Amino acid sequence: MAEHMRIMLPGPTPCPDEVLKALSRPMINHRGPEFAQIVNACTAGVKWLYQTTHDLLTLTTSGTGAMESAIVNVLSPGDKVLALVSGEFGKRFATIARTYGAEVDVLEVPYGSPITPEVVSQKLAEGKPYHAVLLTHNETSTALLNPIDLIAPVIRRALPDTLILVDAVSGLGTSPLPVDELDLDVVVAGAQKAFMLPPGLAFASVSPRAWEAYAKAKMPRFYFDYGKARDMLAKGQTPWTPAISLFYGLEVAVRLLQEEGLDPIFKRHERLMRMVRAGARGLGLKLVVEEDRYASRAVTGIYAPEGMDPSVLRKTLQSRFGYVVAGGQGPLTPYIFRVGHLGYYDEADMLGLLAALEATLAALGEDIKPGAAVAAAQAELMPTKAIAR
Ligand SMILES: *Cc1c(COP(=O)(O)O)cnc(C)c1O
Repeated sequence: MAEHMRIMLPGPTPCPDEVLKALSRPMINHRGPEFAQIVNACTAGVKWLYQTTHDLLTLTTSGTGAMESAIVNVLSPGDKVLALVSGEFGKRFATIARTYGAEVDVLEVPYGSPITPEVVSQKLAEGKPYHAVLLTHNETSTALLNPIDLIAPVIRRALPDTLILVDAVSGLGTSPLPVDELDLDVVVAGAQKAFMLPPGLAFASVSPRAWEAYAKAKMPRFYFDYGKARDMLAKGQTPWTPAISLFYGLEVAVRLLQEEGLDPIFKRHERLMRMVRAGARGLGLKLVVEEDRYASRAVTGIYAPEGMDPSVLRKTLQSRFGYVVAGGQGPLTPYIFRVGHLGYYDEADMLGLLAALEATLAALGEDIKPGAAVAAAQAELMPTKAIAR
């Protein structure tokens, strides 16, 4: 059994040593000036990553909690909502809205296919006055990046006052998501994805339009009440006891991200995505998302070779080499595995994984040309070509 566990999951993701060290600092008063300073630095840093001037709330919860917070703060039971579903996380967002009494219409595309501006435009042409549209930025279950920069304007043109609520839990910090420019109302993200932190914190940006909706929204809310969070944030605090240690880590993580820079962060994720995709193709493996422009920058979904159980592949990869990759979710589970490459990863991580994948497939009896995946990935490190859109 390999002892060194190398997680390559779409969350949780590895944490830099500096972040891990910060997590072990002693507790301080979460109602004192020292913590207020940390909260303010973290908020500013996360807003930078969000490319937003909207209010940015940090919640002690997982990504799903932040999704729930988006629903309960701006909607009332009976509100008409359109859920754009391209995978399991899109379904989850719709389910949360339905759980709290929203009237949810679902527009679902086949798994592995993106939500296109055309299908959204067609749906909205039916003329229903949706109070909100739910959208997944990066659909982790199918490793798909939805073209939100094209979808959001279509929604806004058809329904100028509708709320656009975005699950960007795994996408934020991996590819551009200019929240203000796209006029997105609530965008949620999670610490254990591109933020290079352990799980436990999640974020929500709240637009002026969302605050207007908040004032009228009737769904039950308490722990996740955005108004309470905003009032306390003005004092550098949170309504309830926060995960103080994770705030220590977040302050370090946002500094590291800012030192790298927005554009380099996005380019790095794109490069890692290209390497893994090229590697898989080099081995003759099929990708869940075939078109590069819709390929997630956070995670890559790959079909196991015909007739091979992906869970056997994953177990062998871990026991021989320590690499921990994710299985599929929902209907794709029997066929695929997913390689996470969001957050604290570099090119060497991908080369190592692909070399181990080659050896694993060979050990399982596949006719693999040694070096095929690694060579294809290395080719991607040569001056990059632009992705056509
Ligand atoms: C990880 C993830 C979530 C949140 O999951 P939690 O386990 O609650 O943190 C939500 N949406 C997407 C797209 C995700 O990748």
